[in-house]
Amino acid sequence: MSWRDNLINIEPYTAGEQPKSDDIIKLNANENPYPPAPAVRECIERFKADGLRLYPSMDAAPLRKAVAKRLNSLNGTALTSGNIFIGNGSDDVLATAFRAFFNSDKAILFPDVTYSFYPVWCELLKIPYKTPAVDDDFRIDVRDYFGENGGVVIPNPNAPTSIGVGLDFVKELVEHNPDSIVIIDEAYIDFGGESAVALTEKYENLLVTQTFSKSRSMAGMRIGMAIGSPELIRYMGAVKDSYNSYPLDKVQIEAGVASIDDEEYFKSTNAKVIATRERVTKELRALGFDIPDSGTNFLFAEHNSLSAKEIFLHLREKGIYIRYWDKPRISNRLRITIGTDEQMDRLLEAVKELV
Ligand code: PMP
Repeated sequence: MSWRDNLINIEPYTAGEQPKSDDIIKLNANENPYPPAPAVRECIERFKADGLRLYPSMDAAPLRKAVAKRLNSLNGTALTSGNIFIGNGSDDVLATAFRAFFNSDKAILFPDVTYSFYPVWCELLKIPYKTPAVDDDFRIDVRDYFGENGGVVIPNPNAPTSIGVGLDFVKELVEHNPDSIVIIDEAYIDFGGESAVALTEKYENLLVTQTFSKSRSMAGMRIGMAIGSPELIRYMGAVKDSYNSYPLDKVQIEAGVASIDDEEYFKSTNAKVIATRERVTKELRALGFDIPDSGTNFLFAEHNSLSAKEIFLHLREKGIYIRYWDKPRISNRLRITIGTDEQMDRLLEAVKELV
């Protein structure tokens, strides 16, 4: 027996390639093409470095309060800071939830085509899992999640398919799983989906996660959150504090509050992304692409004659990075992040050269 036998053997998550040059049009990580709210920049410029002597708030208290207040004004809920957990991006939030909640020996369930970090955490944390197949149109059948399980995770909208489900789906899912914790990963919800945040007041076993990375243009700052019953949030806090008591630094907390406070800017950039998405979907469909209606800031596209790999490589040569996976079921699909109108025009031109 060698010490090598005891090393952890996991396949890490592979993120979209990070270009070496600024000329590249980067449409491969579902980042937002617009800058964060002006108040975020002002807050960072104003930030007093002297304050870094002191530890930040242990539980990002000012940000939890701001998030609860905003969600209440949107949803008519009565959430308090006790309903909000904050972490370093929703990846950190989700990993904390997996640790806190998925400790039975029953398999947790998530779709076969979904965010590829879920199986990575399961491998890392030794959580058994099963992946019910989405149908040929990449739709999730809620009945696949009615059997015995150790928990359920569904992104709404799903990634990389871009397809969302309605609140009836979420209610049915939670009502059939009274003995499990159900996580709805709403990383892309602000691009037109129906958020389940208000349902967390009714269902104590429902956790909703969201992020500042997509609709708030702050992927580089790493802020994510979970909304759920005080009991779920308390357990997540205990896990976090058992290995990392100060997850967000002072700049993150202040900049996060500044972003939340500018609702108008948030709405206007999201509206721009959605308008570009609708236009580009039509134009790509006219060029022979099959694309489900997207509820996100990306498209899940397949061409009727060209292979995904061929298109991916051609665009790459033109300095446009999109996402392609050589994986079962999705190897002929491309995931294209919505950029600015100018960036998408460049993409359309490059595609036309091939078609
Ligand atoms: N959930 C889904 C479905 C995602 O696509 C992503 C982004 N890769 C995340 C969560 C995590 O995003 P972040 O950690 O930047 O909040």
